[in-house]
Amino acid sequence: MWHKAPMPPFIFISLLLLTACSQSPAPKSVEETNPELNALLDASLNSDYTYDKLGELCDTIGPRLTGSPQMKKAIEWSMNSMREAGFDSVWTEPVVVPYWTRGQEWARCTAPVEFDLILSGLGLSDGTGPEGIEAEVLAVRDFEELEARADEVPGKIVLFNPPWQGYSKTVQYRVHGASKAARHGAVAALVRSVTGNSLGAPHTGMMHYAEDAPRIPTAALTVEDAGRLHRMCQRGLKPVVKLYMEAQNHEDTISYNVVGDIRGSQWPEEIVLVGGHLDSWDVGTCAQDDGAGVALSLGAAQMILKQELRPLRTVRVVHFTCEEMGGHGGRAYLEAHRFELENHVFALESDAGSYTPLGFSVDADSLVIEHITELAAPLARIAPGSWKIRQGGSGVDIGPIVRSGVPGAGHWVDTTHYFDVHHSLADTFEKIDPDLLARNVAVIAGLIFAVADEPVSLRTLTDSNADGGH
Ligand SMILES: [Zn+2]
Repeated sequence: MWHKAPMPPFIFISLLLLTACSQSPAPKSVEETNPELNALLDASLNSDYTYDKLGELCDTIGPRLTGSPQMKKAIEWSMNSMREAGFDSVWTEPVVVPYWTRGQEWARCTAPVEFDLILSGLGLSDGTGPEGIEAEVLAVRDFEELEARADEVPGKIVLFNPPWQGYSKTVQYRVHGASKAARHGAVAALVRSVTGNSLGAPHTGMMHYAEDAPRIPTAALTVEDAGRLHRMCQRGLKPVVKLYMEAQNHEDTISYNVVGDIRGSQWPEEIVLVGGHLDSWDVGTCAQDDGAGVALSLGAAQMILKQELRPLRTVRVVHFTCEEMGGHGGRAYLEAHRFELENHVFALESDAGSYTPLGFSVDADSLVIEHITELAAPLARIAPGSWKIRQGGSGVDIGPIVRSGVPGAGHWVDTTHYFDVHHSLADTFEKIDPDLLARNVAVIAGLIFAVADEPVSLRTLTDSNADGGH
């Protein structure tokens, strides 16, 4: 934050004269045009509420795998937190979700040299059975090499060791590697952790079995172990690996989205949604993914309440369930709220961690982006030098309602180090910088308040036949 020094009287008078003489008035500062927004930003920068709540979630509940006892506790925690913060109404909405458990797991290179491998079974993978699986490793760099060497695959454990090419490209090996290898007769699939930087921690995440391929167990290895096995293969050493995984897919179960409203003063039926996903993987304590988004949406709403602001529209916080195992919470929200979808004016999701704020990526018409850019202009002081509203994706959880016409945005931060810890043991509360978290609360609270308290509805900017709204 910056502080304004008091102005000496003679400068003040000169400025008054100058203003009076000039043809167009000097542009007004944020303090003059929107004192409430400005005070909200300052209060957010000076509050440790969100940091405290995120620490509570991570340290006293821990990781929150869908269907797990910790996820049930987290749902209670979310409801209690919203109630304590003073939300007008708080409720849960049921979601049918897959239920997967990891159990014990280990892997070991048994020949020609013996050493333990550090692994993390992939979410929704089947287990190996009690005997485990022992086979020679065939290491490939990419899917093209797998296809080229298809005749070598039968009976082997295929190891995918692709270079890091950014998340969306590299994650294809984690998601589809098992089925692609199984089609050629592989007995298991290992994949290099999807990260650009590794300090020896494996990174888990969801995999997907194709209908037309045998289901083989699959796990992530550390970048280091994947590299070592691949180099052994290149030396012609034919490494053999023994893999043991108790992973199990159970019957679907019921989990819940948590929803809390701060009723709007003038158009309570109109909704400005902000959220993140409460579920997580079962390693580390999942502070960045997505404890941060959960705490930021809660903390931003709490700041609006604490400042005793009552925006024109309803501010709704949603803590989604089962994002990690397929985005079930987001789809269930769409189904449960189709009846009031037209009243969803805006949706904002935070699911990229709490790093240096850069702005927002908006998934909407250009008119909406222009309007959001104007509304968000006062927030630029929170991210000096880097602030931008760009066109782009919003998020997995709000994706279903955004694709159904709700203007959406993603909380955009510098993700240079996000994937270093993502889905790994290293995603813990130490990785949260309190100053950056406070700045992220400020930009989220600021944007949500600005949109919820804006006389013009964003929906009227996208509806061609609208009459201008309120
Ligand atoms: Zn996430």
